[in-house]
Amino acid sequence: MLYFHRSQISQNEDTARIETIVTENFPDGKSIDHCLWCETGIEYAEYLCTERCDALLIGLLPYAILKGHDISSDTPATLELLYKIKEIWLPLLLQTSKKAHPIRLNIPTANDKLPNQCAVGTGVSLGIDSLYTIQRHTQNSDSLLKLTHLGYFNVGSHGRGTEATRLNKAHLQKVQAFAREYNYKLVVVNSNLMDEFRQHHAAIDMYTSAFAVFSLQKLWSDYSYASAGYFPGNNEYQDWERKNCADYYLVLQGIISTSNLRFHADAEDATRFQKTASLSNSLIAQKHLYVCTRETDNCCRCKKCVRTILTLKALGVRDRFNHVFDPQKESFWSNLKGLLKGIRKRDCYIMEIVKYFFSNKKKHFR
Ligand SMILES: [Zn+2]
Repeated sequence: MLYFHRSQISQNEDTARIETIVTENFPDGKSIDHCLWCETGIEYAEYLCTERCDALLIGLLPYAILKGHDISSDTPATLELLYKIKEIWLPLLLQTSKKAHPIRLNIPTANDKLPNQCAVGTGVSLGIDSLYTIQRHTQNSDSLLKLTHLGYFNVGSHGRGTEATRLNKAHLQKVQAFAREYNYKLVVVNSNLMDEFRQHHAAIDMYTSAFAVFSLQKLWSDYSYASAGYFPGNNEYQDWERKNCADYYLVLQGIISTSNLRFHADAEDATRFQKTASLSNSLIAQKHLYVCTRETDNCCRCKKCVRTILTLKALGVRDRFNHVFDPQKESFWSNLKGLLKGIRKRDCYIMEIVKYFFSNKKKHFR
């Protein structure tokens, strides 16, 4: 069982932190008290939410199902959220994974409306999906949803340990420079969620982001989650615990949205290639695009760097991105290997650019 004790807020000069003891009870009678925290800048302290356990419920739901832990809580969950999770989402997750266990949610409910600053946000990683979503919802676009804040959530995407700390620090500096340059309010959130409860990040990335968003649920009214460029209808749940959560963002956004806080799986209508094409004239993307998961600047050799470089080559705009993808670091063999591996694995991002190399290989594959 997972037991959520009542959350507490603590502050220092620069940061505010919401802390919750989560007791994990095992069938053999042993138990661990996890001190789970979620921290943000002091200017956002008043928006941290201790009135609900929604963030904990969403953030730890996949973990509880895979471990077979019932969930109990001192603090209530929002009624409509608990209803959708209990009656719709849990039965679906159970049917679509052999590793899932039936669990009980013994959580009180609350139905009153919390105060809300009505901020509209999206995550800022500076990758293709992120920059595309930001571009779609800026003040000068015709979007109905105008961004007021960007979110940078350090909740597991960099992995764990000292290497993760190094990458996060460098990534945050890039994001802060971007936010400063274009006058965005930036909400930085750090948490030890992934350190305390080890999980497969790609399989749960929308849950962990929602954990950060719901921790500040008195700030946001709308949060656009930059989708990974999948086609609508590609919502596969089978064996969800080892697949990409991105496969079913469209469905999960409806489950975790409440009347106080709506999630939007953004740009499911555009493929990664189309998004890259849309950003190819963007001076912002040419200056700030950062997709690497290995180095503090784009390494030009890892899977994500190679995939993006190949897409830029297929579009014939590689040269425009020399500032963020140093041509000196690029490798013909890494590109070729990435292309062939992508074809062998039927990687959807590679498959949509393959035709450009076969029709124009001399021109593009230099
Ligand atoms: Zn890289």
